[in-house]
Amino acid sequence: MNQKENIVVLTGAGISAESGLSTFRDSGGLWENYSVYEVATPEGWEANPELVLEFYNQRRRKVAEVEPNAAHLALAKLEDHFDVTIITQNVDNLHERAGSTHVIHVHGEITKARSSADPALITPIGSADINIGDTCELGSQLRPHIVWFGEAVQHMEESARFVEQADKVLVVGTSLSVYPAAGLVDYCQAAAEKALVALEVEQFPSGFEFYQGKATEFVPQIVQAWIE
Ligand code: NAD
Repeated sequence: MNQKENIVVLTGAGISAESGLSTFRDSGGLWENYSVYEVATPEGWEANPELVLEFYNQRRRKVAEVEPNAAHLALAKLEDHFDVTIITQNVDNLHERAGSTHVIHVHGEITKARSSADPALITPIGSADINIGDTCELGSQLRPHIVWFGEAVQHMEESARFVEQADKVLVVGTSLSVYPAAGLVDYCQAAAEKALVALEVEQFPSGFEFYQGKATEFVPQIVQAWIE
């Protein structure tokens, strides 16, 4: 029996945009209404934890209201034919809700809280708010399980190994401007088949075929072509 081909899919905020979750950098994106420094750095958390908790509580409520779209659902179908790893910069759970079973979150997960004293103490919270006074088992304030600017991105070595072993790589909805996650495309094999779907990109990785447009339009097409 032939071994299944390995597929790695790298996703960013753009894949969830058509589900109704704002990206950060596009016009109308979240950074137009909030300062990155205030809500996505350890210094912002120290200065105003109430504001930071409220920002992510709103994001978490919004994630619970929306549904996976045709792009998330198509990627889940790939698992019937290939060994698939999804490496996402997204903190939402739409890949899992669409049915993908191997999802690596490099920037954390909004549906989890973690201890502000020990980053390894992580608790699933679903769609519940985190409030001032909610504490971990060590008695420290809980914070969102989100990687802020200046903090270590998670699972990078493991992710790079999956990219290196991939026969096919699909990049969807990321501006490729947030490092080190954006650098994962540098690990692709020269011989791998590579496709990129986005409205716009800041760097164009070599060897990728660029599908400029919406994830819900191009991802199902690419998935269908790969399955056939
Ligand atoms: P980004 O905001 O920098 O870029 C979004 C990218 O998606 C752009 O290239 C844009 O052209 C593309 N895009 C927008 N709408 C699209 C659509 N309908 N179809 C296809 N492409 C589309 O996002 P990023 O590169 O992922 O990095 C920003 C950081 O923000 C990440 O760390 C991510 O964790 C975080 N973030 C996560 C969420 C989420 O979890 N849903 C939402 C916003 C931001």
